[in-house]
Amino acid sequence: MYEAGNRLSVSGGYATITTMSIIRTRFAPSPTGDLHLGNARTALYAALLARAAEGAFLLRIEDTDAARSLPAHEASLMADLRWLGLNWDEGPDRGGPHGPYRQSEREPYYTEFYARLEAEGRAYPCFCTEEELERRRALQRAAGQPPRYSGTCAALSRAEIEARQTQAGTLTSLRLRVPPRLTLEFADLVRGPQVFRSDDLGDFVIRRSDGSPSFLFANAVDDALMGVTHVLRGADHISNTPRQLLILTALGLSVPQYGHLSLILGADGAPLSKRHGARSLGELRKTGYLPEAVLNHLARLGHPYGETGLLSLDQLAAAFMPKHLGAAPAHHDEGALRHWQREALAAADWTRLWEWLPAEVHALVPKADREPFVTAVRPNLLLPSDGAYWARAIYTENLESTAEARAAVTAASAAFYGAALEVLSGHGGDFKSFTEALKKITGTRGPALFHPLRAALTGTLAGPELARLWKLIPTEQIRQRLAAGT
Ligand code: GLU
Repeated sequence: MYEAGNRLSVSGGYATITTMSIIRTRFAPSPTGDLHLGNARTALYAALLARAAEGAFLLRIEDTDAARSLPAHEASLMADLRWLGLNWDEGPDRGGPHGPYRQSEREPYYTEFYARLEAEGRAYPCFCTEEELERRRALQRAAGQPPRYSGTCAALSRAEIEARQTQAGTLTSLRLRVPPRLTLEFADLVRGPQVFRSDDLGDFVIRRSDGSPSFLFANAVDDALMGVTHVLRGADHISNTPRQLLILTALGLSVPQYGHLSLILGADGAPLSKRHGARSLGELRKTGYLPEAVLNHLARLGHPYGETGLLSLDQLAAAFMPKHLGAAPAHHDEGALRHWQREALAAADWTRLWEWLPAEVHALVPKADREPFVTAVRPNLLLPSDGAYWARAIYTENLESTAEARAAVTAASAAFYGAALEVLSGHGGDFKSFTEALKKITGTRGPALFHPLRAALTGTLAGPELARLWKLIPTEQIRQRLAAGT
């Protein structure tokens, strides 16, 4: 137990991870919005840490803010985590030995702890109104001091408390009594040794005046009751940790090892926003990003992986080491996400890509062409809509030609396309024999041969291998497109 003027040191650090038998990590979202890149990465790292050590990964829903917590958000958070493949071993939907896993259902635990802290004089009811508190904070700020509770209700006698309680009704906020001159230390898994002074904290609220637990309290108590050994969370929580050490120590509960992850910034160093293409996971999914692309991108935002190829969740876990988590801000670069999307598309089974392609493609591509179509266009896909472009180019008469392609067709001679038509009509063979014959007649080769053909047949100057497309575009269509150049 801590005493005023002392040192409360919670030792730990990465070295102890290897000696602990069971690692339990958790993701503790508040269901007040969608899963974004930042909290998805937090969930991923917590899941990887547990998976690497064959420990357990928990999902706890922090829904103490009743007004902003919505079941729909909880459902979409879970759907996004499942889509990423981050399955939890214990959680509100599947239970577990330390449930319930929704804070709104854990009131009895908190109530018992409030009573204990109050009986021991470690917490006291506070009757200050929000207006009084705000007025005092404003005065402190004006005097250049950090705003913290000035201790108005700290020394009320039992009789005074009872008298005020009768006046105020039963609900009051409860504050933890913070001992003065205490040095609070802990070893952060990411940032190394951290030192805080209790004098900078002030007595803080552990139960709000509406009876709900404060975030600091419920979060710390639940980690302890759920046996969480390692807490990975955003750097914005680091100033909460000394308060949580005080709560846990006052209750004699075990303290997890905390690791505060760096922020994710845009490539330009500014906080992530829509401008950086930083969308919610749900939006990325709807846009057509594959989960393994998002996972590989997120895993590398703040943790280096020597391996440059696409890694599975198990491979990411095997190479995951908390000591490699970087304390410097990570930079989200949309180009890097697109890189991982291309890697994921290259590695995916063709049937999976077929399912991923949109309805327009499904309607246009004949059954027998499905596999060769996917094989041909795969290197040119980033999103499902790109597949639709190629399906239209191959299977419909409309060619959405780019200006460069039109210019390339104009630049090639009418004689070139005339010769191509001639070869085509006397020829039923594959692309190679067609181009060999055309080469002989026209004397062109290399780009001078292939550019005008690609421009006329596909309407662009870049795209899938022409030989593959040749097999898919109906011969009559090929004839018409070559004739357009004459
Ligand atoms: N509910 C908190 C949040 O979403 C959890 C913080 C933590 O992981 O400890 O920020």
